[in-house]
Amino acid sequence: MDHHLFKSPGHDHGRCVKTAMNRAEQVCQRSGSRLTTLRRRVLELLWQNHAPLSAYELLELLVRDGRKAQPPTIYRSLEFLLECGLIHRVESLNAYIGCDQPQKEHETGFFICESCGYVAELSDSSINLSISKNAELLGFRVHKPTIEISGLCKFCTEDNDEH
Ligand SMILES: [Zn+2]
Ligand SMILES: [Zn+2]
Ligand SMILES: [Zn+2]
Repeated sequence: MDHHLFKSPGHDHGRCVKTAMNRAEQVCQRSGSRLTTLRRRVLELLWQNHAPLSAYELLELLVRDGRKAQPPTIYRSLEFLLECGLIHRVESLNAYIGCDQPQKEHETGFFICESCGYVAELSDSSINLSISKNAELLGFRVHKPTIEISGLCKFCTEDNDEH
């Protein structure tokens, strides 16, 4: 079982983003794919935000950069980043989030905090195994085994308890 934890609000986020970007360079180098300026910027924006962003929100941020980014270009960048495993798509939010373990291929679900919007990954192969076992029994063909759980993260719960 592999829980990608919620980051505490006080953590060194500058370093967090830097680490993620360095890791992305390595992943691309190893796979021989190119992290173009736009792809790089999209990933950086996702990491800077630290909570999922929709394609539309990304577009707005890129326009603020002074970039003439068009939706198809952004979708292509997102597609590339998804293929490299550098980001994940959070279906229920119709948004994207940076992955902190892109070197490792993994199926993932998400714990989504309703208060701060942060997301933690839930990678547990036994869940996926159980889904495929049950699907097989039902003769059901799974296309998207989406596991997305909403609630409150540890930091938001602690806040609530204090008041
Ligand atoms: Zn961070
Ligand atoms: Zn991941
Ligand atoms: Zn929270």
